[in-house]
Amino acid sequence: MSNEHTLFLENIPAYAIGALDAPETGALEAHLRTCETCRAELAAYRALSDNLLVTTPPRAPSASLRRRLRGQLPSAQRTEPRRRSWTLGQWALGFAVLLLLGLNLFALSQVLGLRGQQARLSRQLDSAQAALAMLSYPGTQNLSIQADNVAGRLLLDKDQGTAVLVLWDLPAISQDKTYQIWLIDPNGDRTSAGIFRPETGGRFSMETITLPQDMSKFSGIGVTAEPAGGSDQPTGPRLFKIDF
Ligand SMILES: [Zn+2]
Repeated sequence: MSNEHTLFLENIPAYAIGALDAPETGALEAHLRTCETCRAELAAYRALSDNLLVTTPPRAPSASLRRRLRGQLPSAQRTEPRRRSWTLGQWALGFAVLLLLGLNLFALSQVLGLRGQQARLSRQLDSAQAALAMLSYPGTQNLSIQADNVAGRLLLDKDQGTAVLVLWDLPAISQDKTYQIWLIDPNGDRTSAGIFRPETGGRFSMETITLPQDMSKFSGIGVTAEPAGGSDQPTGPRLFKIDF
């Protein structure tokens, strides 16, 4: 017992700083419950270590020490990837690639623009040809359009089911608006016959109108300004209306 006590007493400093392994810790704690002397020894060590903690506040290491320590960390031992430096040739190549990319985008936008222009011209040509053909038919009605803001002609062939609207000095409208053509029956009911925008740059607009098979129930035609995409029924201001 006495020998055992001495052994435990020697272990107390290590136990006080948590340096004993698990079996030794268990045995010492069992002994502490029975031995007043060892408990007093432990209390003394605890007081001492607490005082040490209080009397020596933690200090930040100096910058040079920190640098030296950090240099010894494994992460600092890895070689840094060498920074890539571009030669003049590589810069020139990169610039050329960017330039080509830009030129391609420019060309693409030009092609798209031309394609849109081509589609508009093609539509105009179709309308012009339809107008010429209609003027040569004896059955074509050639009606005058006179309104406050616009003048023109309506070429109408009810039997063939085609009509061409020719309008001079059509007022420009904003991008969120469109002109809409309405066929009007004797009761005043309107049926949409398509939408169109004024030709840009031209003095007159030609619009081919596809008519329904049975034109006998309609007695007039009109055009209003509507929100882009058109409306089910006229909602905007009327450009003109004529009877036929
Ligand atoms: Zn003891």
